[in-house]
Amino acid sequence: MTLEKIAIIGAGTMGNGIAQVCAQVGLEVTVLDISPPALAQAMETIKKNLGRLVSKGTLSDESADAALLRIRTTTDYSQLADAQWVIEAATENLDLKTRLLRQVADQVHPSCIIASNTSSLSITQLAASVERPERFVGLHFFNPVPMMGLIEVIRGLQTSETTYHHALALTERLGKTAITAGNRPGFVVNRILVPMINEAIMVLQEGLASAEDIDNGMRLGCNQPIGPLALADLIGLDTLQSILEAFYDGFKDSKYRPAPLLKEMVAAGYLGRKSGRGFHSYP
Ligand code: NAD
Repeated sequence: MTLEKIAIIGAGTMGNGIAQVCAQVGLEVTVLDISPPALAQAMETIKKNLGRLVSKGTLSDESADAALLRIRTTTDYSQLADAQWVIEAATENLDLKTRLLRQVADQVHPSCIIASNTSSLSITQLAASVERPERFVGLHFFNPVPMMGLIEVIRGLQTSETTYHHALALTERLGKTAITAGNRPGFVVNRILVPMINEAIMVLQEGLASAEDIDNGMRLGCNQPIGPLALADLIGLDTLQSILEAFYDGFKDSKYRPAPLLKEMVAAGYLGRKSGRGFHSYP
């Protein structure tokens, strides 16, 4: 059966981006959120992002209008009944996700595949909360979804070979490249990226170099598009600390301990761009 209908749970940063790319490749998209204002905001964001593509000349007016028309929003789980795929991109909280995944599984057809976009929770544990865990998989998109080319496909212990192959096919349909990752905290990309940022903070804390020099060093010496400390400010220092703590808990390895300077900055309320001050200032 060809894939036509997909549902996205959660209309936030990631959910609206995933909905947009799905609609752009011709899928009928249902976006479900508990919050009507979040749904309205998501439609506004998608409209704005599609408009930007039109003004850049990468998308025609007609295609942008057609993509918008393929998206409907709802707060009602019974609207998921005809979805062939569901991608969950709701708030990162284990209890919330297990509860809502059960609700999703109760509504969808047995052939529906359910995916989670979680960054830090176990796909095996989330799969255990649904009736057909063999039809559950991790699809980890990157932010901003319409711009970023990668999806990590994560197989839980229960994920079947068929589900995995359907996940690879969906990734290809969305015009993204898949890498396959095992179910460990951080999967592949964040597992490598986040300790690198933490080490940059350790280097700053030891007084080896200034924040500007650390960022310039990694930009000009390693061709990174943005320095690690500027990236920390973009991610949010509180989020970064939570990710490191999840790694530290998950692996019980001291190499993942958050840098003391990071914890101190979070305690001071210096959270990066969102608070106007982090390793750099954002007046
Ligand atoms: P967000 O806070 O922007 O959006 C979450 C949305 O979920 C909100 O609109 C909220 O109303 C909705 N929601 C909460 N409970 C719900 C429920 N019971 N039913 C339906 N909707 C519900 O969060 P986000 O940044 O988009 O993150 C979503 C997921 O994507 C998380 O699992 C996160 O770990 C993952 N992720 C985030 C990023 C990122 O850079 N932000 C990157 C990759 C993966």
